[in-house]
Amino acid sequence: MDENKLTSDFNSEVEEAFRTAWHSEKGGDESWNKLMASYNVTPLTKEEKEMLLGSEMKIARGAFPIELRRVYDGIITKYKVPAASSQKLTGAINGFDMDSKVLEYYQKIKPFSGLGDIFKNAQTGTAKYSSGLQKEKHHTMKCRNCGAPRLEEMQYDSCLFCGSKLFETT
Ligand SMILES: [Zn+2]
Repeated sequence: MDENKLTSDFNSEVEEAFRTAWHSEKGGDESWNKLMASYNVTPLTKEEKEMLLGSEMKIARGAFPIELRRVYDGIITKYKVPAASSQKLTGAINGFDMDSKVLEYYQKIKPFSGLGDIFKNAQTGTAKYSSGLQKEKHHTMKCRNCGAPRLEEMQYDSCLFCGSKLFETT
């Protein structure tokens, strides 16, 4: 298949995933589940979704960012083989900045907040965390991409909200 076709197919699958996630009901729906299944993506469990819905990372609509990341990963995996013989496709895949794509999506699904800006939200989250949970403030894990704190009920190394690597703060 020719390079231009492959590259535009890759790009349209990425766009389609974004659109389907964005148009989904809050927390996911049938067509989003179908799309995830077509890439063999494991959806969040019901428990994980409930925990996220109760966390400070609010969403107004759409599927959860981490599920979109998993679909993006699936698309990239699918195009890895043809990319081996296409510089153009390889360029498109290498130029795909996962964290910023997922963050861009999050900014579209979070509740409108007038002055809202991701860095401001991240700082507010930290302040709230350290004043409200004094005894727990050591070894708090926080996402460097979206600012989500690690849910205390669970142990994991990647952000449950957006899928980025967490880092430790003191
Ligand atoms: Zn995150």
